[in-house]
Amino acid sequence: MKLPVQNDKITTPEKHAKLEGLQSSGDLNIYKIEVDVVIIGSGAGGSLAAYELSRAGFRVLMLEEGSYFHPGHFKTDEVYSLSRFYRDSGFQMSENNYLSVFQGKTLGGSTTVNYKTIAYPRNNIFDDWEKIFGISGYRENETQDLVDEIESFLKFEVPSEDLLGPNQSILLPVLRDLNLPFYYYTALSHKCQGLGRCSLGCPINAKQSMYMNYIPAALDFGAKIFTQMRVLKIEDGIKKRVLAEFVKDPHEPPISGTINRMEVFAKTVIVSAGPIESPALLIRSGLGNKSVGTNLKLHPGATVMGVFESKIDMHRGIPQLLRIDGESNSKYWIDTWNIRPSSYSRLLPYNGISLFNTLQKFSYSASAVVQVRDGVKGKTLGRVDWRSGEKKIFYELSPEDEKQLLMGIRQLCRIYSHAGAKYIVLPFLNRTDPLPVNSADSFDWILNDPSHRKQLILNSIHPHGSISLSSNSSLGGVDKNLKLYGLENLYVMDSSVLPTSLGVGPQLMTMIVVLKSLKKLIKTLKK
Ligand SMILES: Cc1cc2nc3c(=O)[nH]c(=O)nc-3n(C[C@H](O)[C@H](O)[C@H](O)COP(=O)(O)OP(=O)(O)OC[C@H]3O[C@@H](n4cnc5c(N)ncnc54)[C@H](O)[C@@H]3O)c2cc1C
Ligand code: SF4
Repeated sequence: MKLPVQNDKITTPEKHAKLEGLQSSGDLNIYKIEVDVVIIGSGAGGSLAAYELSRAGFRVLMLEEGSYFHPGHFKTDEVYSLSRFYRDSGFQMSENNYLSVFQGKTLGGSTTVNYKTIAYPRNNIFDDWEKIFGISGYRENETQDLVDEIESFLKFEVPSEDLLGPNQSILLPVLRDLNLPFYYYTALSHKCQGLGRCSLGCPINAKQSMYMNYIPAALDFGAKIFTQMRVLKIEDGIKKRVLAEFVKDPHEPPISGTINRMEVFAKTVIVSAGPIESPALLIRSGLGNKSVGTNLKLHPGATVMGVFESKIDMHRGIPQLLRIDGESNSKYWIDTWNIRPSSYSRLLPYNGISLFNTLQKFSYSASAVVQVRDGVKGKTLGRVDWRSGEKKIFYELSPEDEKQLLMGIRQLCRIYSHAGAKYIVLPFLNRTDPLPVNSADSFDWILNDPSHRKQLILNSIHPHGSISLSSNSSLGGVDKNLKLYGLENLYVMDSSVLPTSLGVGPQLMTMIVVLKSLKKLIKTLKK
């Protein structure tokens, strides 16, 4: 698909010098502007808000820290892509250093680099939303109109089984033989060709990233969108003041006359900076109650690799299409995902000759990730804070979640060994070599051996829930309308607000919750 022409209206740095009202003092260029609503962050939540509010006739300005990246920038080079399109260059780590949290830092947010699967959470999830958080009206049968609206913008497709890469198709006979439940995800894409590059940016715009739909539609309704502008602080008041600074892109030559600092005045502020940066921004601005930043959920994942005798070349095909459900009554599930060499090397617990030998087998490897629903009842040992001028992520697996992950790892070992893998690379810090396997192994020792406790190497692509939605201010950071408790005209509209973990990717549910609250907000603002 072609890039939308409306995107030419995005205020990228080369347009700064021509902005009317730009004030210069020495080397400092300051741009001040007043609007009705300022939105911070352009991901799944922020872009939807920009569209709905500009369509309703409000003067909207959206600030995005990342640049406007599109197929003109996307390459197969993984190191380049991580460093350019991802937060902290793809190295966003928890304080204890054993968990990586991946997030996009680009126009469109994580939707520009995500695996584009969509699925509705199972109904039992909403029992807890109701019982614990007093939040109702989100079951699948209650939100069909909202899903239809979203679908009229973002194309949903079930990609053909032919686009399953070898990483996934190699497992199909085993899943059928062992009678293990699996299904294919619906995808937010249109005419996906299975090029396997979703996490590096889709080179043919088949993926329905926000810069392909909601962002151009918001521009059509007059929204102003500034990229490479990082919001530092929000100051409360009848008119709020949002302070932002220019972020230079080290891959681009310097441009003269760019804005150094921006001050935006608006009655209403919407924070959509994602589940790590939204709480970090609110905490450094001194806004919000004690719940802000707490109970961060991650769907923590442990990646397992099977090493085969014949070549797999796992980068081919749709990266994540096949989902394998956990054993009955478990909280884990397994997603196949095609990882690339740099991520592969980061997830290997080995060093020296063992690392070198395993990397040599990259083309012969298949990989999948076991993920767990942490924070089933909304509580986790995860937290975001802002200290010494930096955001901090604290996260500990609960013993129950660790057990679930170990069960999933055992299951994946069984699947890979039945599929003919000769070795398995386990995600344990204390293992020094790949494990030789055969299909007769039971792998029960994975659950029973205490030496594996607290040794898991974890990753997350689904952070959420750090400013929970709740009808009770002692349990959440925002109320039913997503308004920050204790403040007027300040809303959080992103995946931070999801109160419990979902068991599926958070994009669709984030959009549903945000869209529902936007309908109420528009009515309130029009009064
Ligand atoms: C590799 C990967 C694969 C994924 N796969 C799936 C999937 O298959 N299905 C699914 O449902 N979900 C998936 N996700 C998750 C999904 O993309 C996110 O849950 C969703 O995009 C969250 O939306 P959001 O609005 O909360 O934040 P984001 O989409 O992350 O957007 C936040 C934006 O705010 C910007 N920002 C942050 N701080 C500031 C600041 N101070 N000033 C200005 N801007 C700021 C960021 O740069 C970013 O662009 C994946 C994520 C990743 C990283
Ligand atoms: S698999 Fe390829 S074509 Fe399909 S969305 Fe991802 S990058 Fe685009």
